[in-house]
Amino acid sequence: MGYHEMYNSYIMSMRFSGKILPLEESLLNRWDSSVKYKIAQGGDILQFNLGQPDFACPDFVKSAVETANAREKNNFYNHTNGTEGAREAVSWLRKEMFNQSYTKEEIIITNGAKEAIFLALAAILDSGDETIVIAPYWPTYVEAVKFFGGKPVVIDIKKDFHLDIEAIGGALSEKTKAIIINSPNNPSGAIYGRDELSGIAKFAIEHDLVVISDEVYGSTVFDGKKHVSIADFPDMKNRVVLVDGFSKMLSMAGYRLGYAASSKETINNMIKIKSNMNGNTNSFFQIVLEEVLLNHPGEFLKFVKNTAADYEARRDFLSKGLSAMDIRFVRPEGTFYVFAEIPGCLNMKSVEFANALLNKAGVAVAPGVFFGDSFDGYFRISFGASVKSLEGGILRMKKFLLSADKFCR
Ligand code: PLP
Repeated sequence: MGYHEMYNSYIMSMRFSGKILPLEESLLNRWDSSVKYKIAQGGDILQFNLGQPDFACPDFVKSAVETANAREKNNFYNHTNGTEGAREAVSWLRKEMFNQSYTKEEIIITNGAKEAIFLALAAILDSGDETIVIAPYWPTYVEAVKFFGGKPVVIDIKKDFHLDIEAIGGALSEKTKAIIINSPNNPSGAIYGRDELSGIAKFAIEHDLVVISDEVYGSTVFDGKKHVSIADFPDMKNRVVLVDGFSKMLSMAGYRLGYAASSKETINNMIKIKSNMNGNTNSFFQIVLEEVLLNHPGEFLKFVKNTAADYEARRDFLSKGLSAMDIRFVRPEGTFYVFAEIPGCLNMKSVEFANALLNKAGVAVAPGVFFGDSFDGYFRISFGASVKSLEGGILRMKKFLLSADKFCR
């Protein structure tokens, strides 16, 4: 390192907190920015890199936006934990869709599920506390734990992306405070079964751990399966911070609406942080949420059911296309992602592969290494995109593989 670089790095480390320097910008967001930059420059790119559903805003949501627009005081500050209406709506949703009972006092409306995860970790972690994260993982978990001075302890999952309770037990230390689980899982599409969840529940109770259960894909389950929440196991409700949101369920990612449900005590501690941080979640869109769930429940439930069926059809279409190219993957049981193996004949790591696919074939996928160091041989494809777009992506990928290496022919 030259003198100027050393000086700059010294100044930089003086200016920014020691907490922020080791953090990574969300790798998925950064990668998406570079993909969007290429598109803005005229690149012909099919995007399968982000968890962005392609469904247009449904009419009943549009009409709820109009109702919100006409509502008095929609421009005012609101309760930190969310409007009465939005919390009542979420309480209804948990009962109607998942047969769970959460009162309005056990719910906080957040700026996306992302904020709910941050608030949960902020409320429970002391500096040095360890949190078990199961890989492949959604990358924000690791950065969020680090941000609050915690230590993420990453455990790789079994080959079929299901839980290995024994391996998880091996990650335990005196400092373990929490475990983050995500089922249906991004990126693998795995859904943890009752036995797996019961194993985690027993483990959490035995070692007095908080479970942060990210259930944002709870409504996107296939093959007639039903979503099971770990909060439903005996003595678990108050130990679990259940996180969900409307980005995926209602294709409302830009509206930034999520929530956490837990014990009153946990929610009250999350309120302490949120009230000082951003006061409340956008009042206007909370009215939209209330209007959609409480005044258009039939249309809402139908939309959720139809989109899940649509994703299932896309899953089948994409699975067929990938299998025809001899690309190996575990068939997703839910979500809208396939986590596939990079063909060995290419001899490429995941960032190199994703860059080559982007630049040579105009196909954007997410590199596997973003989801954990052990997954550099993988890539994630989102089927939030339409069948037509997936068809184009498969064709381009096929061409790329044919031209990439003679051993892949
Ligand atoms: N959790 C998981 C597993 C996700 O995949 C995502 C988004 O991709 C989120 C949370 C964040 O959702 P939101 O848009 O509600 O912040």
